[in-house]
Amino acid sequence: MPQYTRARSRICPDCDGFPRVAITTGQHTPDGRRLTVIAACRSCDGTGSVPAAVLTRTGR
Ligand SMILES: [Zn+2]
Repeated sequence: MPQYTRARSRICPDCDGFPRVAITTGQHTPDGRRLTVIAACRSCDGTGSVPAAVLTRTGR
């Protein structure tokens, strides 16, 4: 059987493909929902992937 080789992953190594997360602040909005802030990965600027050139440069 043929064995397929997957393309080299370009997922950001710092956030593992989860570039944006919502963090609860512990406070609530006037309508009762949790107040959250969005934090984006600094390495990939919230995209979740990095260009192949960057991976080559960093050796990952
Ligand atoms: Zn990232």
